[in-house]
Amino acid sequence: MIERDRLSVEEGARIHADLEAALATGEGILAAAGSALDAVQAVVVALEESPRFNAGKGAVYTADGAHELDASLMEGHSRRAGAVAGVRTVRNPIALARAVMDHSPHVLLVGAGAERFADTQPQIARVDNAWFDTRTRHAQLLQEQARERQAQAVSLKGAYFGTVGAVALDLHGHLAAATSTGGMTNKRYGRVGDSPLIGAGTWADARVAVSGTGWGECFIRCAVAHDIAARMAYGGACLEEAAEAVVMQAVPALGGDGGAIAVDVQGNIAMPFNTAGMYRGWIARDGSRGTAIFGA
Ligand code: ASP
Repeated sequence: MIERDRLSVEEGARIHADLEAALATGEGILAAAGSALDAVQAVVVALEESPRFNAGKGAVYTADGAHELDASLMEGHSRRAGAVAGVRTVRNPIALARAVMDHSPHVLLVGAGAERFADTQPQIARVDNAWFDTRTRHAQLLQEQARERQAQAVSLKGAYFGTVGAVALDLHGHLAAATSTGGMTNKRYGRVGDSPLIGAGTWADARVAVSGTGWGECFIRCAVAHDIAARMAYGGACLEEAAEAVVMQAVPALGGDGGAIAVDVQGNIAMPFNTAGMYRGWIARDGSRGTAIFGA
């Protein structure tokens, strides 16, 4: 969980700087008339490379002390999508998700099969699983395991930090969304959350692009990303109403928590969250920009 009293001023400043650098990467691509898809991928790669977010280098630990990474992306106007789950040696899982979209007839590849597919893609950087080790995440694993022993129960609620995502609208009027995560600390048995599931953690169509973060089991059961799009398509809701209804009502109604980022084809942005904070950054159509961690 992101909590105000646990975040030092210095660490907060580093997070803002990483968010701003990632935004600038996406901005450069969009300003040069690049695609929303390329922009969201590049932004997510930048965030995967930072140890401060739960994706790529900063991925959390599984119960057996390893890292299993999930990622997905989707392009709105073409409805093309790619995703991977449970990968262990892929430095940038979002790049492998893109390769699944571009170079395979499939949408979602998992585990050993996804690794074998990565073997056929020379552009995909590979690392030992231990490359993802960080002291901070290891301390979080030990803390979570101690909490679990004390509670004598298995619970993942609250055991996640900082999945990354990006949504973009390009100069051609096209939308895209991308999401990448290490999942939840102390996860077992090949557990996969919402992030690599199209419709749950990621969605894009001609109207809206959405990326979510939160307790994945609830996000799957609410089909969060697609539900936001569906409320707009079938219910006539505007982006803000749709995103608020799903994140502030539907997810908490199942006992879940988290947030989402979304952009619609008019360039409206929504970033609701029902937790104390959610790392986020934005550049609006009028050029106004910002990064933030906590609520008002
Ligand atoms: N939604 C992710 C998952 O359940 C975790 C997160 O967003 O931090 O795997």
